[in-house]
Amino acid sequence: FGLPRTLNEPMRNYEPKSSDRAGLQAAVDSMLASAPFDVPLIINGQAVQSGKTAQQLNPSNHSQALCRYQEADANLTRKAIDGALAAKKDWEAMPFADRAAIFLKAADLIAGKYRFPLMAATMLGQGKNVWQAEIDAAAETCDFLRFGVKFVDELYKVQPSEHAKGMYNRMEYRALEGFIFAISPFNFTAIAANLVGVPTLVGNVAVWKPSPMAIYSNYLIYKIFEEAGMPPGVIQFVPGPAEEIATAAIEHKFFAGLHFTGSTHVFRHLWKQIASNMDKYTGYPRIVGETGGKNFHLVHPSADVDTAVHQAVRGAFEYQGQKCSALSRLYVPQSLWSKPGGFKEKLLASLQSISQGPVEDFKHFMGPVIAKHSFDKIISLIEAAKKDGGKIIAGGTGDDSKGFYVKPTVIETTDPRSVTMINEIFGPVVTIYAYPDNEFEETCHLIDTTTEYALTGSIFAQDRSAVVKATNLLRNSSGMFYINGKCTGAVVGQQPFGGARASGTNDKAGSMQVFLRFVSARTISESF
Ligand code: GLU
Repeated sequence: FGLPRTLNEPMRNYEPKSSDRAGLQAAVDSMLASAPFDVPLIINGQAVQSGKTAQQLNPSNHSQALCRYQEADANLTRKAIDGALAAKKDWEAMPFADRAAIFLKAADLIAGKYRFPLMAATMLGQGKNVWQAEIDAAAETCDFLRFGVKFVDELYKVQPSEHAKGMYNRMEYRALEGFIFAISPFNFTAIAANLVGVPTLVGNVAVWKPSPMAIYSNYLIYKIFEEAGMPPGVIQFVPGPAEEIATAAIEHKFFAGLHFTGSTHVFRHLWKQIASNMDKYTGYPRIVGETGGKNFHLVHPSADVDTAVHQAVRGAFEYQGQKCSALSRLYVPQSLWSKPGGFKEKLLASLQSISQGPVEDFKHFMGPVIAKHSFDKIISLIEAAKKDGGKIIAGGTGDDSKGFYVKPTVIETTDPRSVTMINEIFGPVVTIYAYPDNEFEETCHLIDTTTEYALTGSIFAQDRSAVVKATNLLRNSSGMFYINGKCTGAVVGQQPFGGARASGTNDKAGSMQVFLRFVSARTISESF
């Protein structure tokens, strides 16, 4: 069917006194006034009360619960799987244009009617400020849905070009036999929508375990799909204890695939669990995961310092460093780093202007980190860095008395393999290593061999030959390589997103490639 050109959802700016600001403010106020909301499990389109409840807190103010949700167990997960398998027959038989219409309608509902509630849920539940919520819940969620339709439309058109005389060949892109198990992270509402959206758009059914720290926004995503016409059972919403739910899913005969974003450790554990259940399955499950990162900016002596500083601050501290892609290793030539008016001075000056506070104040560049356990982990890694010879030149402390606030932290190290150069932190901490100016190539080698991850990275240089050199030397060090831009903020349809090595299977969210993982093609060759 003919598709109009797919465009990225235009971003709004929420200036004070604008109608968008007023609308969003009203959504935030009313959500705060009505919280905590009760969130059920959803199995076969029905709200189910398991009787076991947990809470999602507002990380800006942890005395406040945003929602109380029901938790699934192994039995309810199996019930959800059976229901999904029953729903699959009609869903995969539905013409693609009809499935696509549901996705496009869901995108329009998010862009319009539900933009502010979905953003408010992402702000109050996941600690995103208004701009980060706009990027994620509004823009990227719409983009994943709309571009997804375009990618699948293109994928289905990939057909054999040759037909011998008296013969006609074609490829049929079937859904996988079984169900897809989706495990989504707290940090992007859009990623959660995409983890269930990708498999279902091509005719699969999905059993979805959302993050306990993103329940309310994810529940709204479910309800929006439902309002857009998603038939009951195609997506089953089963929050609850990860290990129990995952085990019930992975031990099922019709487990057909895992669509995962989260930690490297958990992904490896699940992969092994899948391997050990291999003999039960009807097919080879597809395993698609986006996991950790230890992302770098490499600054060349020819770089424009103002740009490199500005991009470092954004890359490291937007959303409190809780993007998988966030900057955490910064390599600056010694001359630029320490000279008067150089990188260090400009970086520290720029940190002075960063404000931090509750996201519902609408005015802070930084909010809280997601939860007590991440607050504790971040602070303990800062402490470990100090013991490992790191010098804290900004931040280094936190306050979790009201919300989970960690100051934007810069650690200077002379050991490029020290503890915070190697370990993923998932918080507002960047470690800087000033390298000798004449060791640019060696520094590329160092970047490549320091960590097990390969998600995102950037080079800042005006000298074209340095750009070319870094592009070549850092070929396997990231799945996303940016030249003179920060290592975060991939846009659907513009920068397909994914990393290699310990960072994931690199199936590129926001591109046609990831859809290929959730179809099983049949070649049909007819002689006449
Ligand atoms: N796509 C996001 C970005 O480029 C990051 C996704 C993630 O955190 O997993 O910033």
